[in-house]
Amino acid sequence: MIRIEDLRFRYGEGDFQLRIPELAVESGTTTAFIGPSGSGKTTLLNLIAGIIRPEKGRVETRGVEVSGLSDEERRRFRITTVGLVFQEFELLEYLTVLDNILLPYRIHSALTLDSSVRERARSLAERVGISDKLDRHPRRLSQGERQRVAVCRAVLTDPPLLLTDEPTGNLDPVNRERVLDILFDYVEDSGTTLVSVTHDHEILTRFGRVMDFRDFHAFGEAGSGAAGGAS
Ligand code: ADP
Ligand code: MG
Repeated sequence: MIRIEDLRFRYGEGDFQLRIPELAVESGTTTAFIGPSGSGKTTLLNLIAGIIRPEKGRVETRGVEVSGLSDEERRRFRITTVGLVFQEFELLEYLTVLDNILLPYRIHSALTLDSSVRERARSLAERVGISDKLDRHPRRLSQGERQRVAVCRAVLTDPPLLLTDEPTGNLDPVNRERVLDILFDYVEDSGTTLVSVTHDHEILTRFGRVMDFRDFHAFGEAGSGAAGGAS
């Protein structure tokens, strides 16, 4: 599903550099990315999704070398292949919950918003327990509810790859378990590959594999490190 070779990335001329000699994530697996704040976890999700491009090396996602695509091709690739739950959810305050869930269909011409999509959005909302809040605006939702809206939006297109960035950050224990159940039930039902950044060591047992970013030599100039580790 994901293959990375000899990846290097930096933002402008900053000190931060992400270096990953090799990394592979197989289809249908669940992987957690852990590591200190600032170690490049969000950056790597953005590289895998084709939101940003590496300075050097290959990022192949689902057989496509994302880094070699044009902007338009990358956008298309992203909407057909990747569901993203961003660290800050990125809900639009001026849209209702339903319209936030439907957003991918509103902003991409490659997707057609029809009645079956609306039905799917409603059924996802039902499944995660927010179907009575579809007409609300995000500011009137709790943190856990906002997170569930973000998850519905990410899976609406039924993407083969789901990338979630700290999906349980800032959630109380009850909501944390609830969001995780939703994510993992979805992954199990759909066969989607899940890659999730997390700070939360208590949830790592749910994942098939754990990768620690301390192995990626994000800081300084250590030699070629092994990218991996399993649980
Ligand atoms: P993590 O998700 O592991 O906390 P990030 O991938 O967000 O880490 O960030 C890695 C490093 O890159 C940090 O030092 C951060 O300050 C820096 N960084 C993140 N985004 C940008 C950006 N858009 N421009 C410049 N530096 C950035
Ligand atoms: Mg981050």
